[in-house]
Amino acid sequence: IKVQDYRPQPFTDFTRPEDVQAYQAALKKVRAELVGKHYPLVINGERVDTAERIESRNPCDTSELVGTTAKATIQDAENALQGAWAAFESWKKWDMDARARILLKAAAILKRRRLEACALMSIEVGKNYAEADVEVAEAIDFLEYYARSAMKYAGFGAAETTWFEGEENGLMYLPLGVGVSISPWNFPCAIFIGMAAAPIVAGNCVIAKPAEDSGLIAGFMVDIMLEAGLPAGVLQFLPGVGKEVGEYLTTHARTRFITFTGSRAVGLHINEVAAKTMPGQKWIKKVILELGGKDALIVDETADLEVAVTAATQGAFGFNGQKCSAMSRLIVVDEVYDTVVGQFVERARALKVGTGEENANVTAVVNQMSFDKIRGYLEIAPQEGTVLLGGEAPGEHGGKTGYYIQPTIVGDVDAQARIAQEEIFGPVVSVLRARDWDHALEIANSTEYGLTGGVISNKRERLEQARHEFEAGNLYFNRKITGAIVGVQPFGGYYMSGTDSKAGGPDYLTNFLQLKTVTERW
Ligand code: GLU
Repeated sequence: IKVQDYRPQPFTDFTRPEDVQAYQAALKKVRAELVGKHYPLVINGERVDTAERIESRNPCDTSELVGTTAKATIQDAENALQGAWAAFESWKKWDMDARARILLKAAAILKRRRLEACALMSIEVGKNYAEADVEVAEAIDFLEYYARSAMKYAGFGAAETTWFEGEENGLMYLPLGVGVSISPWNFPCAIFIGMAAAPIVAGNCVIAKPAEDSGLIAGFMVDIMLEAGLPAGVLQFLPGVGKEVGEYLTTHARTRFITFTGSRAVGLHINEVAAKTMPGQKWIKKVILELGGKDALIVDETADLEVAVTAATQGAFGFNGQKCSAMSRLIVVDEVYDTVVGQFVERARALKVGTGEENANVTAVVNQMSFDKIRGYLEIAPQEGTVLLGGEAPGEHGGKTGYYIQPTIVGDVDAQARIAQEEIFGPVVSVLRARDWDHALEIANSTEYGLTGGVISNKRERLEQARHEFEAGNLYFNRKITGAIVGVQPFGGYYMSGTDSKAGGPDYLTNFLQLKTVTERW
């Protein structure tokens, strides 16, 4: 295919009034056209409805029903799986560039509908303008990037082998077959489409199960993929309940691979059940996991304080801390602890709490389960440290009931405390005091996770030491630790944070490919 080199999408600058106005117009359009919509399942290209439905509610105003999706039954899951295998027979034979073109076309459509996708997420999951904008940019980037990377794996001889006299030897990449993609609500556009488009462009067929809280934006993205010309059965849209259809498919003998982004508990469960061979199963299932984090930012005594405070505020409270990459531990060396923490608390105090549609800095968390879980941590916070800011979960804002949690900062937390070890997934930061740089690095490495991390320092030797010793899949110096850009910062963690598969990275598609060596003796 003929394409220009990959370039990430630029972000929108919402300090410009015209961009804010355009966003608000999109909110109106989405309210008129998409809110209240029902998305059935898509199986073999057909819309299939179910007796039961999943409701998607606005977390910032829980009285508002944003829309509904079908709720797949076990029989639907079985039909989707069998149909996907039937579709695989022809999809696997498509030329790589023909498959890539569908992604590029989908990216073009999404570029045109970018504001609608953003506005829908503001209403469905409470993203503010910038958070939604960056996410839709990432969704476009995944499509554009994976379409281009696919070309590397096309044809016989795609990977290097050594010449051997009297023979032709070569490697070819083959798709795996049919897999299940179980995606999260926190990046319900970008991660949903990235986890489907990557295996698909490599020649696989995918059953995509979106998170229960964000079925509408997922349905919106599936419509775009179909409009771009994806053949029937290649992408089966299967909203349903994880414990039901998710469990059925992950344990099914005919599931070839599972790609999951979500909590560590669910990820480890999937890993365990997928490892058990079922009667009639003829492969070892491949499992790709992107799980949680307890991500730390270290600030040392040589740091630029302004950089440190900005990085901490953005990293901790962007989308209410509901990112696996979010800064949930701030580790400050004693010498500058009081100054840094004082300024951080002041900066966070200025954050506006409100709805996604109002473009507040901090909005409501996604659902009752998250709200209750975070409230549980707020209850233990005073025993584990000093609550310097927030600490309450008002559950309402401006007369609207929603899952509102105050931005919360807890100081002088012990490195082994629960709020310093367990993923909270909300706007709650534990601040830890380190004696010095070495102690700070030791604390940073003291969890079971290894997703993102950062250092704010002007000491070259320390940055170099951290480069090797800070245990994180994505490490950032002198900036925030969230917001990885496709192709620029391949994203993924190790240890309990996942299989380090690096979404948006140069080898990501190999997660969904198998290699075959063919030798012909001449
Ligand atoms: N890729 C996102 C980031 O760098 C985080 C993804 C996630 O939370 O799952 O902030």
